[in-house]
Order: sequence, then C-alpha cells, then structure tokens
Amino acid sequence: MLSNLSSEKIVSEKSLRWIRPVIKSISAYQVADASGLIKLDAMENPYQLSEGLKAELQIKLSEAQLNRYPDPSASSLRKKLMQVMQVPEDKSIVLGNGSDELIQMLAMAVADHDDTKDVCLMSFEPGFVMYKMIADFVGIRYAGVPLNQDFTLDMERTRQAIKQHQPAIIFIAYPNNPSANCYDEKDIEEIISSSPGMVVLDEAYYPFAQTSFMQRLTEYDNLLVMRTVSKMGLAGIRLGLLCGQPEIINEIDKIRLPYNINVLTQISAEFILDNVDELNQQAKKIRDERERLLDAMNAIPELKVFPSQANFILFRVLNSDENRSANDVFDSIKQSGVLIKNMKADTGLLKNCLRVTVGTPEENKVFVAALLKAVNN
Ligand SMILES: *Cc1c(COP(=O)(O)O)cnc(C)c1O
Repeated sequence: MLSNLSSEKIVSEKSLRWIRPVIKSISAYQVADASGLIKLDAMENPYQLSEGLKAELQIKLSEAQLNRYPDPSASSLRKKLMQVMQVPEDKSIVLGNGSDELIQMLAMAVADHDDTKDVCLMSFEPGFVMYKMIADFVGIRYAGVPLNQDFTLDMERTRQAIKQHQPAIIFIAYPNNPSANCYDEKDIEEIISSSPGMVVLDEAYYPFAQTSFMQRLTEYDNLLVMRTVSKMGLAGIRLGLLCGQPEIINEIDKIRLPYNINVLTQISAEFILDNVDELNQQAKKIRDERERLLDAMNAIPELKVFPSQANFILFRVLNSDENRSANDVFDSIKQSGVLIKNMKADTGLLKNCLRVTVGTPEENKVFVAALLKAVNN
C-alpha cells in the first residue's frame, strides 16, 4: 500500500515538472454551481425552443448518423450561417466549437516561439477573461489596456499601447463583457486603421446590441468579425464563427481540428437557423425586458447601474461598508434563490460590482425583490 503511494507520487512528479509554470499558476475557469437557483450568471437566453420546434428537431437528431464522422468543413451549415449573419458574399468564415475555440485558433496562428519575435495579443480591461487565458495557454504575451472609468476606450493609452506592443491581434468585445457597452465607432475605426495586425470585433452580444462591424469587412483588410450562437439561445451546442478576408480565414482554418463541429451541432444549428425567427423574437423579448430591469434597478438609490446594450447589466453597490459590501449583497441574493455574478473586485473599475443576466419577466421580478431585500438589509 505504502509503496504504491510513493511510486504514484514519483510518476506525477515526473509528469508535472514538464507543465509550464504559467499553466500551473492559472486558476481554472470557475463555473459556479447553480443547482436549485434561478440562473442569472452566465448570459444565457432564459427561453427554450417552442414545443413544435423541439419535436421537429428531435426527429432530425434521431436520424443523425452517429457512427460516421461529421462533414469536416460543415459546408452546408457555413452557407446558412453566412446568410443568417449577413456576412458579405466575398468574405469567408471558419467555425469553432464556441467562439472560445476561435480565439484559441487565432492565438495559435500567431504564436511564434522564435526568440527574436515578440508576439503580443492585446485587449481592454476589464474585459472578457478568455483573451488573456488563451494567450497564456499558447505562450504569447498579453497586454491589457485599461478602459476609462465609464468603460469607454482610453484612446491616449490605446494609441501608446499599440505603438509600444505592436500587437499581432487586438480583441475588441462589442459590446464589452462585463461592462455591457459598445465603444465609440470612431475610436474602433482608428484602432483598426492604426493597428499593425489583425483586429477582431467579438460580437457575441449582437442580438442585443443590433449594431455591428460585419458590413465594414469590405472596408478593412485586417478586420475580423466573430459571432456566436451561444448568447442567442444555443449555448449548449457550442458554435461560433469568425468572418473575414478569405486569405486570412484560410490560414486560420488550417489550425482547426477537422471534426470540431460535431454532427449533433451541425444538424441542430442548421434546423434552428431555418427557424431563426423564433430566436429573434426571444432576443426582442430580452431587449424589452432589459429596459424594464434597467428602470427597476435605476430606481434603487444604493446602486450605480451602468447602461447596457447586451443581455446583462453591470451594477455597483454604493456606500459599501461593513454592512453592505457587494459580497454581502451577492450572498443575500443567492440566499433568496438567485445566482448572479460577483465580479469580486475590491479596487479598480469593477470595485463592488455585480453582474446580472436578463432573465424572463418572472425571474427578473424575483431578482429585483431579492436585490431590494439585500441592499435594505
Ligand atoms: C460569452 C462570450 C463569448 C463566448 O462565446 P462562446 O461562443 O460560448 O464560446 C465570447 N466573447 C464574449 C465577449 C463573451 O462574453
């Protein structure tokens, strides 16, 4: 027994010494346990497909050939996505297992461990955490440019950072997560024009912002637009797309593992995109509900609520002290049965901030009641 244990230890040491220090230092992406709670933490669409669509989809899925590899290039699905997402005809797209995988492919495409090269991936902070995590995974440098207090782009700093870091890729979440705002269009245009490399507009929240750089692909050679079906109601199937000049997309496509979009995802996505009106109507309901939720939250004097063009709302708990810290408010809301996201910042731009995803009218009502109870404690 004892000897077994010690030999296991030797084996793990043998392996672990090869794991890069940067990987060992990363704390794995945390996903909170939502069992039994109203789930308003992950920007999911709260609505299911209608019973009619579900039944039809079930038949389609039952006919899937699970014994065969899927279409490696998912060509039929790609064609449909280009139509539905209104990708300009002369541009190309590559699909990812969620847009997270596309970020990874982009980073892998530029990662160069030639000592004479210094490859940098740039983004803005606070922002989407996967950009930095993936830069660490593939071993390239990351530069996070701080936003202004109101989460707009600090163009002085941005200009300087571009000059200093010469980033291979700049990621711009549009709208940004977690701040929910879209940056000024002129600022983005300047970044695209002055960047020495690729600029990726991450439009994960397009259905809620309804403003896009997709048509601008024809104007800028170094622009790429990334979309996902996750926030529009299909987070479970894992499907994202990257759109841009065919020459660039072809290179990224070489890194893609051949069967990254599985057969169930291909079938489901094609079928649901044929009926995309249903998702569009859900997005409309969520946008309307976002306005109602913003009004209700803005009426609470203990909060600073930031404007939102997404399906979530960032807010700060004011006058935080021993009695009313953001952590306490978060815990109290959870006690009331609602899970939101605690940004866990004691300082900086996200100080005392929490983030809530827009749910159904009923869910939001429970949330607002829980929030009122929490701040008046
Ligand atoms: C949620 C989110 C994504 C992730 O999308 P998936 O397609 O689910 O991987 C990408 N970018 C931003 C800014 C997000 O908030």
